[in-house]
Amino acid sequence: MKRVVIIGGGISGLATAYSLREHQPKDVPLEITLLEKNDRLGGNIVTERSGDFIIEGGPDCFLSEKPWAMELCKRIGLGDGLLTTNETNKKTFVFSRGALRELPEGVILMVPTKILPLAFSSLISIGGKFRMAAEYFIPRKTDDSDETLSSFVIRRLGKEALDKIAEPLVAGVHAADPDTMSVRSSFPKFVSLEQEHGSLIRGMIKRMELLKKTHKPSQESAQKKTTMFITLKNGLSTLTSELQARLTASPYTNIKTNTAVASVAKKNGLYSLALKDGSGMEADSIIICSPAYVAAELLKGFDSELTEKLLTIPYVSTATISLGFKKADIKHPLNGFGFVVPKTEGRKIMAASWTSVKFKYRAPDDSVLIRCFVGGAKDADLVSLSDEEMLKMVRIELKETMGITAEPVITRIYRWFNSMPQYTVGHEGRIKLIEEKLLKHPGLYLTGSAYHGIGIPDSIRTAEITAKKALHHVSA
Ligand SMILES: Cc1cc2nc3c(=O)[nH]c(=O)nc-3n(C[C@H](O)[C@H](O)[C@H](O)COP(=O)(O)OP(=O)(O)OC[C@H]3O[C@@H](n4cnc5c(N)ncnc54)[C@H](O)[C@@H]3O)c2cc1C
Repeated sequence: MKRVVIIGGGISGLATAYSLREHQPKDVPLEITLLEKNDRLGGNIVTERSGDFIIEGGPDCFLSEKPWAMELCKRIGLGDGLLTTNETNKKTFVFSRGALRELPEGVILMVPTKILPLAFSSLISIGGKFRMAAEYFIPRKTDDSDETLSSFVIRRLGKEALDKIAEPLVAGVHAADPDTMSVRSSFPKFVSLEQEHGSLIRGMIKRMELLKKTHKPSQESAQKKTTMFITLKNGLSTLTSELQARLTASPYTNIKTNTAVASVAKKNGLYSLALKDGSGMEADSIIICSPAYVAAELLKGFDSELTEKLLTIPYVSTATISLGFKKADIKHPLNGFGFVVPKTEGRKIMAASWTSVKFKYRAPDDSVLIRCFVGGAKDADLVSLSDEEMLKMVRIELKETMGITAEPVITRIYRWFNSMPQYTVGHEGRIKLIEEKLLKHPGLYLTGSAYHGIGIPDSIRTAEITAKKALHHVSA
């Protein structure tokens, strides 16, 4: 029987293991062992339930445009649990010049696609609006070198679009610094819009027209209407628990928590692993699904060049702070999904989601749930504040941005140290080098959010590709 060992039990490790089982040829008996250092599976995905509050410690949703997470949910029987966002209140706000100002309708990430909402927006100055609109006429970049998100946005849409829209949105979502972030690896769609259409605005409008023409929704698909963000009714841990349950029930599958791997080596054509408890095991194939810097550590004595390359992928730390309040205590209308905060405002929080507005079933009927983000590329030190200091700081921020002075009825803090990989300029080239080095070690694979896409859908997509490669290797 061939043995595959997976290191790391986050969504990448679980999706890899599940995909191995889904695609395993009948004539290739396979033993799968998944090793996770913590006492629970899920990695960054953790859902906590307290009464009728459902609190996500890490990710709270995924993009529907990238279908791999939704598809996996459907394949494992969670299709009915998929939950769309509340579409009656889907505004996003930006905290700017002391007030929450609506992100103009039609701005998709940073590209304006509707004239009137932009024209009447109080967020952007008149000069800034003309500069954004001028994007339509700015010629495309002629060389294909990578560039930072800042340089891309300033070149196409102007500095104000960067400071008030692109920077806070990417800080809120990727915890990243646009001055170092690779536009090619983080937003490949924008790069191709510029290249294909000569302008982001023109490209976006054309795509929307095409979608309208080609997509005449049938009654059935209209009923099953999806939204940009999707979650699971009982929280994202439903996904990891269901994968765990299915794997546990499948023969020759061992899932071991509280089992940290210390190093990987190769002996007599087989991979051997040393575990931190002093024991070891052998495998025909190893799939490392831990953060890149952990993979670097595991491979240190085995391939120092690979280790060196893996260490070039930087990570940042973030924390999420969820606060539940009695609805009656909140004067703010909570008329949207939440707000982001530009760096130029000098505040401590990067963003706040009005979670119980964004999704149903997140708070009791008489309560609301708000989730704040701190840390990231610009304020990593804040993640280490004590619980007391963190709550005090966040409550001051909510008071000064939303006018909330009420006592929360529930609070939860989750700290994520070195958990967000950063795709800095040149990321694509670095990953190519890593993959070239890996070719020297058939049967050894790396997958996870550090390489080909930061969010859950891409982690699942790349896990499935990796599983197929490993199956090919062990079947050969
Ligand atoms: C605060 C936060 C919010 C996010 N929000 C979103 C969102 O809303 N939507 C979205 O799509 N994505 C979001 N993301 C990104 C998303 O969480 C990741 O894409 C995804 O969870 C990555 O999964 P992974 O399995 O690759 O890594 P991880 O979840 O990091 O899993 C790696 C696993 O490896 C284990 N491990 C480490 N070292 C060892 C060792 N030596 N031996 C054994 N096991 C080891 C770890 O304990 C961990 O369980 C967010 C991330 C964070 C931190």
